[in-house]
Amino acid sequence: MKFGLLGRVLGHSLSPQIHQAIFRALGTGDTYGLLEREPEAIPSFIRENPEGLRGSNVTIPYKETVIPYLTAIAPEAEKIGAVNTLSFTPDGVKGYNTDYLGFDRMLQAAGIGLEGRDVTVLGNGGAAKAVLQVLADRKAASIRILVRDREKAGQALAHFLAQRPDTRLETYEEALEGSEGGQVIINTTPVGMYPKVEASPVPAEFTGRFAAAVDIIYNPKETWFLADGRKAGAKTCNGLYMLVAQAVASEEIWQGKTLDPALIPAIMKQLEATFHG
Ligand code: NAP
Repeated sequence: MKFGLLGRVLGHSLSPQIHQAIFRALGTGDTYGLLEREPEAIPSFIRENPEGLRGSNVTIPYKETVIPYLTAIAPEAEKIGAVNTLSFTPDGVKGYNTDYLGFDRMLQAAGIGLEGRDVTVLGNGGAAKAVLQVLADRKAASIRILVRDREKAGQALAHFLAQRPDTRLETYEEALEGSEGGQVIINTTPVGMYPKVEASPVPAEFTGRFAAAVDIIYNPKETWFLADGRKAGAKTCNGLYMLVAQAVASEEIWQGKTLDPALIPAIMKQLEATFHG
């Protein structure tokens, strides 16, 4: 069966490597390719499936673009307003959001609970939307989002804010002036990602106010943000599990079966060997 990643510019993607590792583990002869398409090709890509795909992942800038052309959408993808997985079936095309599933499974594997916890999220981009939906569905007691531009963030997250109107948007300056901490802090910004590793979105003192620090960046393995948390005694978790788990969750949708959870750490190990730090 044929699978792929739909996007516009995809040169650096790790997805083929991850999915091919899954195919090897399953012993299938399936293939996974990069599908770079211009915006005008999206409607026919979905409606006519000219590649004869069984499934596809979707990345920037098409996670929202694909939605009007779907036959059905999974509840988590509908709530988030973004789709990163398409399943082509005889009944039509269904969209899912496995970033959501990957993030949820990662926190469970790391033993970082959300229910009843005070959680601070850094950033308000595409990945933040999936993260925030997990926080809401797992019943975080309070959600605070640190942003650079409150007005822009309010617009970008309007859909989520309507669902959890008790969510607070604060600027970094406001948060750093105050003394509020919490149980969990999650970085969803690209600050600290390879190759610009010598940076953190917040000072060490701020990260040290939380019992657990989660970074969805996976390269380097330990960002400055995570190192600050570790030095302050926090439990830490990088984004590699999420990256692999979202691919495994997509495969589970396409293959119609649950895969062995041991596959995730096995693939993480293979990828880590190619990373920095
Ligand atoms: P995105 O949509 O471009 O959003 C980036 C967010 O970070 C925006 O809110 C942006 O703020 C903020 N930001 C950027 N530079 C900043 C800075 N210098 N200081 C403070 N905030 C800053 O990107 P994304 O798709 O959400 O991805 C974000 C990160 O998550 C990337 O590192 C990506 O690799 C990682 N990621 C990991 C996984 C995984 O599976 N582990 C999955 C998805 C993404 P403004 O709105 O003010 O511009």
